Amino acid sequence: MGKLIKGDVISQKIFKEIKTEVSKLARKPVLGVVLVGENFASASYVRAKIRAGKKADIEVKVFEYENDVLEDVLISKINTLNDNENIDGIIVQLPLPDHLNESKVVNSVKSSKDVDGFTFDNAGRLFKGQPNFKPCTPKGIMFMLKETGIDVKGKNCVVVGRSNLVGLPLSRMLIEADATVTICHSHTENLESITNQADILFVAIGKNKFIQPKHIKDGAVVIDVGINRDEDNKISGDVDFEKVKEKTSYITPVPKGVGPLTISMLLSNTLKAYKGDFYEWLWIIWHCRNEKTTSL
Ligand code: NAP
Repeated sequence: MGKLIKGDVISQKIFKEIKTEVSKLARKPVLGVVLVGENFASASYVRAKIRAGKKADIEVKVFEYENDVLEDVLISKINTLNDNENIDGIIVQLPLPDHLNESKVVNSVKSSKDVDGFTFDNAGRLFKGQPNFKPCTPKGIMFMLKETGIDVKGKNCVVVGRSNLVGLPLSRMLIEADATVTICHSHTENLESITNQADILFVAIGKNKFIQPKHIKDGAVVIDVGINRDEDNKISGDVDFEKVKEKTSYITPVPKGVGPLTISMLLSNTLKAYKGDFYEWLWIIWHCRNEKTTSL
């Protein structure tokens, strides 16, 4: 069987590292979470962020709004958070109720606080190779590979799924790391013949146990992003872990694989946002002083 890539263990290490860095700062970095309505899954994701924040010494503040909140009202609340110097990062917990334009709401988050990396500005920056905040799930996957000593350089990487959330940004990050990348989606013909070429296979499609041994080359690394419910209502991935594991050299489990890394990267981006502000302010103060000196 392939070696397990334990995302939960790696994420605990990241929390510790963040905590050590935070202990040297003037105050705790703060992540603002905008939560609309009473979506059960969203509420549980937010609770997980609060728990993780406690481990890393990042404060997670939740701003809750009624299910029927007006779009203008919500955007104006987000603008208030944008202007609040004591909030370093902001995320909008998705999905939003149907009457809200998700894209408009997400893009109202100031780019320098967009720690999810979801705004047009940050997505564009990523694709131009000048990232500000990288989206957390693909960033976490890249971190996990590095931490495990798996170098993607020159490797045949196949990404199944082309969403803006996972597949596309992950593919961009892999290219940046000098991998050779093939992206597959629901219209891909002969998927099996393509996935069989993969040295490293990434799957993010949201289909329970879709990937079977026939899709895998012997000794491949398999990264499973999927979060589904199986026939027994247990959380399971897009890869049929029990059947596939024997063929792999490394494999991520679900749960305790990619998921924990996503939250770690969110907190790491929040720390980055705090530092960004801090160093920006230092620069402004230094600049103003210099200007004064020059004008004197
Ligand atoms: P999504 O937006 O629904 O995108 C799914 C992608 O899979 C689409 O590109 C779709 O192709 C492709 N696809 C669907 N069926 C396929 C098939 N039979 N063969 C090949 N490609 C197929 O999903 P997502 O947001 O990327 O999420 C994917 C999964 O990852 C979900 O289970 C989600 O819960 C999970 N997830 C986990 C984390 C984490 O932290 N672990 C984070 C985010 C998401 P088309 O584009 O052609 O439709």
